[in-house]
Formats: sequence, C-alpha cells, structure tokens
Amino acid sequence: MKIIHRALYPGSFNPVHYGHVDIARRALRVFDELVIGIYVHPGKRDLFDAQERIALVKKAFENEPHIQVASYNKLTVDYAREVGAFAIVRGLRVFSDFELEFRMALANRRLAPEIEIVNFIAAEEHIHLSSSTIREIASLGGDVSSMAPPHVVDALERRFAELKAQGNDPSFMVSLAD
Ligand code: ADP
Repeated sequence: MKIIHRALYPGSFNPVHYGHVDIARRALRVFDELVIGIYVHPGKRDLFDAQERIALVKKAFENEPHIQVASYNKLTVDYAREVGAFAIVRGLRVFSDFELEFRMALANRRLAPEIEIVNFIAAEEHIHLSSSTIREIASLGGDVSSMAPPHVVDALERRFAELKAQGNDPSFMVSLAD
C-alpha cells in the first residue's frame, strides 16, 4: 500500500495571488497531495467571502488534481488532523514574517507534536506580494495583473466596482494587515 503524504496549506487567501500559487506548486514537489485550507474568521466582513475565496483558489489550480480546496474555522492543527495532513506548509517572505511564523509553529507543535511545520522561502520575484497590498492597489484602480491570475484580477475589479456603485468607500475592506 502506498502511503500518501498529504500537507495542509492554511491561510486567508483573500485573494489568492502568484506568491501563494508558487508555494503550493513547490509544496507538491515534496508532498503527494495538498489541501489548501482557507481560514474564515467568523463574523469578519472580508472583501471576498468564503465561497468566493474557495472559487478563486479552485480556479487557480483547476489543472492540478493533487490540490483540494476548502474553508475552515477551527484550530489549524485540528483541521490538519481532520484532513489527514501530517504537515502544515507556510511561506516565508521577509524577516518580519519569521517572528510570527516561528511563534505559530511553536504553538502548533505544542498543540500537535505529530504535525510538522514546513516553511518554504518565497521566490525572489514574489517577496513583495501580499493579499493586502493587492487589495489596496486594486481598490485605488492600480494594475495588479502581474501579481495575481487573470480571474482574480477580474474579480477584484468587479468587487470594487460593486462597492463604489453601492456608495461604499472600498477602503473599509482594505487594510495593511492580512
Ligand atoms: P495569512 O493571512 O495567514 O498570512 P495569507 O493568505 O496571507 O495568510 O498567506 C498564506 C500563506 O502564504 C502564509 O504562510 C504566507 O506567508 C504565504 N505567502 C503569502 N504571500 C506569499 C508570497 N508572496 N510568497 C510566498 N509565500 C507567501
């Protein structure tokens, strides 16, 4: 019997961008299967809701049979256990990511010592990318086509147009924190 090595790649993915795509593809060189788990804060008003984020991530990986996509709102280690993942994948961009990732990894190890945390170093060309930066640029009408797949760029354009048409100031959905 072949043992399937499955990992969980958790995050907000609000929205998914080329930095996430790169980490997921590289993770598949190490693991057989990847579950992309979209963490949804209960009660938090986000630019894209859980269903929209799932759809955007699914489309980004539509030709990748070894990636599954779902949302969750429980402890990440509990979700990893639920989906049968023995590792949690995270990306590391800059030194400022390191402290948070390090603390989260230690806390998760305390909660679930059987689950390994694996950090992939961001590709140089994607180091500056974050969902919050993309949301902010898109909210001001900037070109984000080099940062996220075309269907995500379209979804951002549509969402900000909707918000403006409703008379909402889109900046309430845009913050520098991810
Ligand atoms: P969170 O909101 O939990 O930080 P994100 O959706 O921003 O989640 O990112 C999920 C994961 O992807 C995190 O581990 C983050 O470090 C990683 N990541 C985000 N942007 C990039 C990037 N440009 N390059 C590599 N990894 C990234």
